Amino acid sequence: MASLAGVFKEKERTNWLKAWLALDIAKLGFENFVTSESQNFHDHIYDQVRSTCTSCTTENVRKKNFICPMQICNEVREKIMSEHRYNSGSWNNTDAQEWQTNRGYCEIAKFYIQTDGYAAKTSFQEIDFNGVVSYMLNCKRFESLLSFPITTGKPTTHMPACLLYKVRTAVSLTQAMFVWYFFCICSNISISY
Ligand SMILES: [Zn+2]
Repeated sequence: MASLAGVFKEKERTNWLKAWLALDIAKLGFENFVTSESQNFHDHIYDQVRSTCTSCTTENVRKKNFICPMQICNEVREKIMSEHRYNSGSWNNTDAQEWQTNRGYCEIAKFYIQTDGYAAKTSFQEIDFNGVVSYMLNCKRFESLLSFPITTGKPTTHMPACLLYKVRTAVSLTQAMFVWYFFCICSNISISY
């Protein structure tokens, strides 16, 4: 049976421990940042449309030529989609009827998370590191808020799009030291507020 002392003797285990710590600390560090920026984005959208609608469902809103009876939801949809780096989004993660509510900022943010599985999440405390990174990569609003470029092109299997994307890949390849390196960067991260 492995002992705690053994963890510090084996390089692979030590790297994983560092990776776990780095991801946990980085995720905590990002939570307030992404929550604040998502609330700003939400406020910005609803300041522009100047009203709310509670009747349109996601099934309605996701249709290409859908027009909200109050001319609101289609406008909100266009503003959300125009901020997506790759002009797509995950309709399965978001609930359009919640967009105008207090947790609407998170519902809108989840649209940018590439993979499904986040529909039931209601705050960034519940969203894992992969989800947060995916959101930051796909939502162009973060482009000018970090001290390094988020991406220089569309990611492919052999060419990760950005440092954040590389972190996710690093975990899957057990290159935990890269994650530790990322944590070192995060500890000096500069945010343009
Ligand atoms: Zn509507």
